[in-house]
Amino acid sequence: MPKTAVLIVAAGKGERAGRSQPKQYESLAGKPMLGWTAGAFGELPVTMVIGPGQEALYAAALPAGAAPVCGGARRQDSVRLGLEALVKERPDFVLIHDAARPLVSRRVIDGVIAALEGGARGAAPMLAVADTLRRREGESWSLVPRDDLFRAQTPQGFRFADILAAHRAHAAQDVTDDVEMATLAGIKVEAVPGEETNLKVTTEKDFALAAKLLGSSDGRSADATLRETRTAMGYDAHRFTAGDHVWLCGVKVPHDHGLEGHSDADAGLHALTDAVLGCIGAGDIGQHFPPTDERWRGAPSWKFLDHAAKLVAAKGGRIVHCDVTLICERPKIGPHREAMRARIAEILGLDLERISVKATTTEGMGYTGRREGLAAQAVATVML
Ligand code: MG
Repeated sequence: MPKTAVLIVAAGKGERAGRSQPKQYESLAGKPMLGWTAGAFGELPVTMVIGPGQEALYAAALPAGAAPVCGGARRQDSVRLGLEALVKERPDFVLIHDAARPLVSRRVIDGVIAALEGGARGAAPMLAVADTLRRREGESWSLVPRDDLFRAQTPQGFRFADILAAHRAHAAQDVTDDVEMATLAGIKVEAVPGEETNLKVTTEKDFALAAKLLGSSDGRSADATLRETRTAMGYDAHRFTAGDHVWLCGVKVPHDHGLEGHSDADAGLHALTDAVLGCIGAGDIGQHFPPTDERWRGAPSWKFLDHAAKLVAAKGGRIVHCDVTLICERPKIGPHREAMRARIAEILGLDLERISVKATTTEGMGYTGRREGLAAQAVATVML
């Protein structure tokens, strides 16, 4: 199998009006644009080229990301420096992509790779121009034939050695993208289908559209596949025991009792973990983290929820909403509700507005009413 590397050019300084940082570090639907862009390439190894002085922004945006390469003054300088940094990896192909295209779909990426595997020396997604094009000539508007006009997108893919040699040979010339660089070097570039949704996020309107596409349905594959929504529930209960605090929804709440359990007995996160697992038919928390396993003694329950969320992500899914109801007479949940929402949002990497925490009592009835313990139920919604 040929080895394919991905170079994401994120060195732009472009700032949105009233914002203090370059747009690629801005949050889109709860995640930095850069994170969406890198994530679109799945298992392919991504090298990020950032602007000089953007190290701290990068580290904050992608704390788990690989060390970035520092770019140059022009886009093409950043590409060249990124390519030089890849020399030691010796990839067969390289896909060069703009960080400002976070909605690129797997279909577009695979189309570029397939063209290279089929023998093309270069391949780039192109879109035909649908609108009628007119050129203003004084008072009149002449028709511009559009048969030969295309909108070039990224990723633009090449044989690694070819495009590296082109950038080295033509560094002195100013080019707009890598198709132009390839053309200068005599490398023939094949067109593969682009997608309308693979938009370059530039203006405030683009931001709003991209956030909507990423946040609501699945913008990445809006052209390609139908997605489905799945909802599942979880339920858990724990018994009160001696102690001075309980863990609920990842928050330590002072109380005149503790909760009995193998882990930290966080019934809220346990119920939510089961709900998330239920969305992908992946069993229940007891199967993944057996109470007989010493590794989970006293374990913080965010690890269970994080594990379930990773299973969803591995299936290409995304959690879009969580709703937890805590059932107890005491402790009072109200004062801790917002902290609980924030903690769940943090564990799942979701916007706060996608997380709901509610509380109720059973009016003195049943085991929660008798304060023998507390219970939690949760509903999770996943897009697959
Ligand atoms: Mg439990």
